[in-house]
Amino acid sequence: MATQTEAAVVCRDVIKNYGSGDSLVRALRGVDLEVFPGELTLLVGPSGCGKTTLLSVVAGILEPTSGQVNVLQHDLRKMSQSKKVRFRRQNIGFVFQQYNLLPALTAAENVSIPLILAGQSRRRAHAAAVELLERMAMGNRANALPTQLSGGQQQRVAIARALIHHPRLLVCDEPTSALDAKTGHTIMEVLRSVAVEGERAVIIVTHDSRVYDFGDRIARMEDGHIIGIDTQNGTGRSMRATSDVATVGGASHGGVTA
Ligand code: ADP
Ligand code: MG
Repeated sequence: MATQTEAAVVCRDVIKNYGSGDSLVRALRGVDLEVFPGELTLLVGPSGCGKTTLLSVVAGILEPTSGQVNVLQHDLRKMSQSKKVRFRRQNIGFVFQQYNLLPALTAAENVSIPLILAGQSRRRAHAAAVELLERMAMGNRANALPTQLSGGQQQRVAIARALIHHPRLLVCDEPTSALDAKTGHTIMEVLRSVAVEGERAVIIVTHDSRVYDFGDRIARMEDGHIIGIDTQNGTGRSMRATSDVATVGGASHGGVTA
């Protein structure tokens, strides 16, 4: 059997509590998770089950109460605050539900920001931004302001901004929830084709069952726990987890093991 690809993210017994005493919320109650490069992992579950909390912990924006979080072979708990900020800037891209674009900047200028923060000239950053927008069928909207773009177009700009510095990990929190079904589908296709390349790991939080087909792995979450992981799509990489594939092969994903 081929050697296993090293996981991009490893969580072991991760606990996150908010507040204390009467207002204690146990948002993560011992989460174990592995996320692999070259794959799209969906994190699904009902509202309030801890998806955003887990994504924030994995992305290094939130300290877990306890447990191990390893991202790209780095132990996040051993990193100083300033080192973590630098690590995030270089290695992690974020896409949020509400796009978070800067309203006074054009699409291309918004996309350029991570490169400018990394010290690139405005001119080179802008050229790279336009090129990426072109790949995402947004080349003709590169000079538009966010208010001149549809929701789906704004989300594509936000995805381009998260990918422009070639992060090895991309995390997206409900990227389709503000979009209609058709646009949501397009965004997931964009994420599949643009994001899952170059051995990048992609985690998408969603409670939208219409996008489940796009995941290589689906981690189901409930009440602060991962209650199961399904493997699908048979991309080849997913076949590595032979036992997982067999588990889902019998029922609804009959074709996967063929
Ligand atoms: P999801 O993204 O799955 O909807 P969250 O991770 O946002 O779930 O929230 C998990 C639980 O933690 C919920 O009960 C939520 O109310 C609570 N929670 C989230 N953020 C905070 C916070 N900053 N302070 C207190 N409780 C929080
Ligand atoms: Mg959430």
